[in-house]
Amino acid sequence: MYDPLLDESIGANAPYPNSYWADVTAANTLGNAPADDGQLNKDIEVDVAIIGAGYTGLSTALHLAREHGIKATVLEANRTAWGASGRNAGFILKSSGRKPYARMQSQWGEEVMRGIYQEMCAGVDTVKSLISEGIDCDPQDSGYIRVAHKPSMLKDLIETAALQKKMFGYDIQVLTREQLHQDYMADHNAYGAIRYQDGFGLNPLKLAWGYQKLAREAGVSIYCDSPVGNWQQETSHKTGQQSQTLQILHTPNGIVKAKKVVIATNGYSAKNFHPLIKSKTLPVLSQIIVTQPLSAEQLAACNFLTSNVIMDTRALKYYYRKLPDNRILFGGRGAITGKNAADPYYAKRLLAVLKTSFPALNSLRYDYAWSGWLCMSLDDMPHVYQNEQRTVFYAMGYCGSGVSFSVQAGKRLAQKVAGVTVPNLPIYQTPLTTFPFAPFRRVGQWGYFQYGKVKDRWF
Ligand SMILES: Cc1cc2nc3c(=O)[nH]c(=O)nc-3n(C[C@H](O)[C@H](O)[C@H](O)COP(=O)(O)OP(=O)(O)OC[C@H]3O[C@@H](n4cnc5c(N)ncnc54)[C@H](O)[C@@H]3O)c2cc1C
Repeated sequence: MYDPLLDESIGANAPYPNSYWADVTAANTLGNAPADDGQLNKDIEVDVAIIGAGYTGLSTALHLAREHGIKATVLEANRTAWGASGRNAGFILKSSGRKPYARMQSQWGEEVMRGIYQEMCAGVDTVKSLISEGIDCDPQDSGYIRVAHKPSMLKDLIETAALQKKMFGYDIQVLTREQLHQDYMADHNAYGAIRYQDGFGLNPLKLAWGYQKLAREAGVSIYCDSPVGNWQQETSHKTGQQSQTLQILHTPNGIVKAKKVVIATNGYSAKNFHPLIKSKTLPVLSQIIVTQPLSAEQLAACNFLTSNVIMDTRALKYYYRKLPDNRILFGGRGAITGKNAADPYYAKRLLAVLKTSFPALNSLRYDYAWSGWLCMSLDDMPHVYQNEQRTVFYAMGYCGSGVSFSVQAGKRLAQKVAGVTVPNLPIYQTPLTTFPFAPFRRVGQWGYFQYGKVKDRWF
């Protein structure tokens, strides 16, 4: 599998992974995807080029067109949402990054912490409002359950719930182990939970296709099979005129000259892609399996009543949800390198954990297994930023939680590109931090995995 930390090129025109989402939408065979503009096969000059057709790129393009009258050109190496956007778990949550609100408060103060919370809420609202324009993406019942994987973690969850209720008036239910087992699902690894009323699951690939359709209707061009490889900068000096700098993006069959470029490649940004993002992110694999559909007896044996999205409290988290056809989607960490990504060991490990949660499913198999790159940042927060000349922009570093916030990030990116002021928050006003000892990022990741295993088992 493509490994962004090692490979200098992402390749081109790869099919979607063998995921449940690609299968239920027949993405690779029947051509269910909405129309795009095909491969770029001519040289063009544009005001704004966007690299990457995931949620970030599509949202930026859509908001540029609708709110600023700028019709951008999107360049995608493979197909729309071929990256994380078409292969994630489809959890819509009011969050992004991994930094707890309490830490934001102590570092930046209450006003900033609240401002960031507002942005996370706005992300969910924007996703909902775009869906209401007619995106058919199978949203499920609202509810986000965080389960305590140990009795001691329930205390932490209750404290978090109390804090969020006080700070944001957030409506959070506390569930004992018995209530959880009786009203939602009988997860044997769960010792109680908190439940947010909002948050829900959907089909992430269909969501991205919906954004693509809206963006094209708004006048955006989307070229697939058009990876940006070589990237140069050209400054022209004409007598009596101000000098102008253009970004020159080379794709296999066409060159794009753009006044401004948005990098929306997130965890799929190739090694040395652009100096602005070099060594500033850590791509980490997340693995998903989708089981066979559960029979009525199996569902009853687990009392699996809920379709809410579920995540546990481990340092190395597991997440799961029941899909509309009664399969279980179950996810967690994957391999460390792209080379090992397809090793069935990682999918089997997830299935084994699933069976410890639901022993009645002992004979269950999985029908789908795939993985994808999350984009971690050093400070555990996403960043939407630009170069000094305000000609190259980026949004990335969602740390595994970007389905809703990437849309808000795209909206803010569009404002930045259009020269509109965005909120004075660290996520919009500071760049991604360079990883110290960047060539050894994977050693750090391995170390974190070892720490996580010990913490989750013993503390
Ligand atoms: C397995 C998994 C599960 C996840 N589950 C959830 C979840 O349930 N909830 C949640 O909130 N978040 C989840 N996430 C994270 C979420 O999917 C991402 O944060 C989000 O999709 C990022 O969108 P994006 O548009 O920024 O990047 P991507 O969707 O990764 O898009 C980047 C695109 O850039 C393209 N590209 C890269 N280089 C080039 C180039 N040189 N030229 C042209 N194109 C290029 C790629 O082909 C790719 O399509 C998950 C991620 C994974 C991998």
